Amino acid sequence: MADRMSWRPILFSCPNTGDRVQGLLPADATELESDDLHPISCAACEGIHFFNPRTGAIIGSKGS
Ligand SMILES: [Zn+2]
Repeated sequence: MADRMSWRPILFSCPNTGDRVQGLLPADATELESDDLHPISCAACEGIHFFNPRTGAIIGSKGS
């Protein structure tokens, strides 16, 4: 595949540790107007958080 995805770095606070973490989000995701959640791997707690591109909210974990 020649396609290259573009990524946009975002800063967020890890809900588990409170640390500021830089994550990568697909560039497309910031243009969505839905409430789709995008998984972001967290360097602080090594878990996965979910980012809502419409509200900018970070959700600690889905469904727990
Ligand atoms: Zn985290």
